[in-house]
Amino acid sequence: MTTVTNAVPNTVTNPGTAAQIELSGIERVFHLGDSEVHALRNLNLTITAGEYVAVMGPSGSGKSTLLNLLGLLDRPNTGVYRLEGRDVTTLSPDQQARVRSERIGFVFQSFHLVPRLTAAENIALPMTLAGIAPQQRAARVAQALKDYGLENRAGHRPDQLSGGQRQRVAIARATIMQPAVILADEPTGNLDRATGDEVIRLLEELNRHGVTLIVVTHDAGIGSRARRQLLMEDGAVHHDSGIPSV
Ligand code: ADP
Ligand code: MG
Repeated sequence: MTTVTNAVPNTVTNPGTAAQIELSGIERVFHLGDSEVHALRNLNLTITAGEYVAVMGPSGSGKSTLLNLLGLLDRPNTGVYRLEGRDVTTLSPDQQARVRSERIGFVFQSFHLVPRLTAAENIALPMTLAGIAPQQRAARVAQALKDYGLENRAGHRPDQLSGGQRQRVAIARATIMQPAVILADEPTGNLDRATGDEVIRLLEELNRHGVTLIVVTHDAGIGSRARRQLLMEDGAVHHDSGIPSV
């Protein structure tokens, strides 16, 4: 089940050399009544295609805010985000949605599956939204179900699946459009240790196929598996182990 043949990103530009993600001077301020929360402060970060990065740090330090910005689920108040050389901060919501659909896969702690849809329908959803023809959709879903060991669960709804199966459906959905970047926000947070390890191994296999992997985690053991660790504190990168030279 770990063959993940769908995983290879549809374009890899010089993996290991190109700056794929560049954040400069990013500020994200939330307004709550009269008070302001500076979730990100003057954040600068460069990530290269094919990296495996763990984002760690205390609760409230801005990890999810950072991931949401990277995933184009949110916009900064100030600063520039370049993805594959293109300034994506100035794109319209529709253009951002398109970039997200083509380049980025998101995996969440609480899976975020659509409750009324089956496993197969959840996995197909990004292709449905992208207007991909039903026949092609069916073939890719069948392959994904096989890759993730879900062939016998295709017709099950999320509430009929275990936590590990739900997260496998979520990963299959996140990768069905062959994204260049996978963003995972505490993907093992709702899973027991063994199931969480299995989920991390699946994500790591995607990374071995060239997908950039950015994982937010509270778990030092998981964090230490990444080739680069970022420690967030108070909305900034407090420590960066740096881009490995190999
Ligand atoms: P982490 O993921 O590291 O726990 P977050 O990025 O979720 O931290 O949050 C960073 C800070 O921004 C926290 O103080 C949080 O309360 C605040 N915050 C996050 N999202 C919102 C929001 N939508 N509205 C108001 N404040 C928010
Ligand atoms: Mg968070």
